[in-house]
Amino acid sequence: MRAEAMGEPADPGLVVVAPLPLNARAARWGADPARVVHSGMGARASRRAAARTLRVPGSAVAVTGVCVAIDPDLQTGDLVLASEIRYPHGTVRIPAAGILAGALRRAGIPVHVGPIVSRPQGLLRSERARLRGTGAIAADTGSGWLASGAGGRPFAVLRAVVRSGQHQIGRPLVAAAGGARAHRRLADAAWVLDRWAATVAPRHVVLAGPRASCAGVERAIEVVERALEQHGAPVYVRRQIVHNRHVVEDLEGRGAVFVEELDEVPDGSTTVFSAHGVAPKVREEAGRKELGLIDATCPLVAKVHREARQFADQGYTIVLVGHAGHDEVEGTLGHAPAQIKLVANIEEAERVEVDDPERVAYLTQTTLAVDETREVVRVLERSFPNLVGPRSDDICYATQNRQDAVRAVAQVSDVVLVIGSRNSSNSNRLVEVSERAGAPAYLIDDEEGIELEWLEGVRTIGLAAGASAPERIVRRVLEALGGLGPVEVEERAVAVESVRFGLPRELGAAAGD
Ligand code: SF4
Repeated sequence: MRAEAMGEPADPGLVVVAPLPLNARAARWGADPARVVHSGMGARASRRAAARTLRVPGSAVAVTGVCVAIDPDLQTGDLVLASEIRYPHGTVRIPAAGILAGALRRAGIPVHVGPIVSRPQGLLRSERARLRGTGAIAADTGSGWLASGAGGRPFAVLRAVVRSGQHQIGRPLVAAAGGARAHRRLADAAWVLDRWAATVAPRHVVLAGPRASCAGVERAIEVVERALEQHGAPVYVRRQIVHNRHVVEDLEGRGAVFVEELDEVPDGSTTVFSAHGVAPKVREEAGRKELGLIDATCPLVAKVHREARQFADQGYTIVLVGHAGHDEVEGTLGHAPAQIKLVANIEEAERVEVDDPERVAYLTQTTLAVDETREVVRVLERSFPNLVGPRSDDICYATQNRQDAVRAVAQVSDVVLVIGSRNSSNSNRLVEVSERAGAPAYLIDDEEGIELEWLEGVRTIGLAAGASAPERIVRRVLEALGGLGPVEVEERAVAVESVRFGLPRELGAAAGD
């Protein structure tokens, strides 16, 4: 293994490998010529260039130049970033692609990410259709053989489409009409590649445990999957089944149709209520429309609904601590609309007014910050000395555990990355808890959300994931961080979770397993 790959890069900086001086000039305008390798075209020349590249000092290696489109949507001048290179000797995976793609897009440089096929010579028209079926998006003549030149250093392949149409690839294309446009795009992207190479360093990643999907989220996703199996597509889902973009997109791809309200659902259709629960009037509407209803409301949210009804029946005014507009809060409010007052924070709790201060109860959203909520409840106790609350905490075990876990990780990290979507309440709370524990924290949907500047000078990264985020995205982010240098992973678990909820009885024989 190279010395650089085992510790700090001895000589930080980007090594650019390009088939021709013209390509290299585009990608390295004004840069150190000692870090540019002209590879030539084809397999043999690329193999020789790889051997030369191994001897060029630098922290990362980027292959640049041109390619031809396989994906019919690609236009001349479009940039293509390889997620992997497929060539006759195997497949080279490129973990750098996700973070680099995000950095390019945030810089206003559109880029297509996908497999590139490397071939010793041109691509025949007849082969294009076959390769399209394999998911490959573009083809070149050298990247596969050049990959070994990285020698363990982070490696990227960024090429510009020189022709989108029905031509063979090869030297004449470089002079084609699309060439100038393609090279301008490569020149635009050069500073982002430099920035990427400057971020390369060995790092320690501390994984928060528990993290990612909770029992309620796993159950809700399984409900939709089983509904699709049992009833076939489409299965309608009111609101996002859980607040995570990847989960929603995945289920959409399998036939789930997400709607905001039931008036968008055809009468009699199979319909799932999301994990966040619904107000009784939504259930009534489902009855009027004779929907085949499957309720994926998390049992811990259903518990809050029951508590709201019980306190309301006993004549209490209920102060609900939660965030206005959140799906779960909307559902809970609907169970006793005349008797619930919503407060979001200490200031609102201090101002809350009720008719009978002797009969006040409080409930909370399940995904709040534990410490902050405790403060809000203290304020309510001062205002209403006879305040009563739920028998057991409404902030659920998963929220509590993930906050404890991210706090532990934040205490030893330079920066914390929290995987979760913007509309995920519990993921946003993890960012806040981490910042209160002293580590800057950022919410990301996936690896593309990681900004290079967050990682500058950073050696220890905390990695957590909200209760609605799938564990597979955690694995993707870990792999992507490995595209910025060697990563040592440590898991810090503050609790072990074994909670599992049975499926709703509407799923028939499958229920309860
Ligand atoms: S975060 Fe808690 S309340 Fe929400 S779905 Fe998960 S287990 Fe249920």
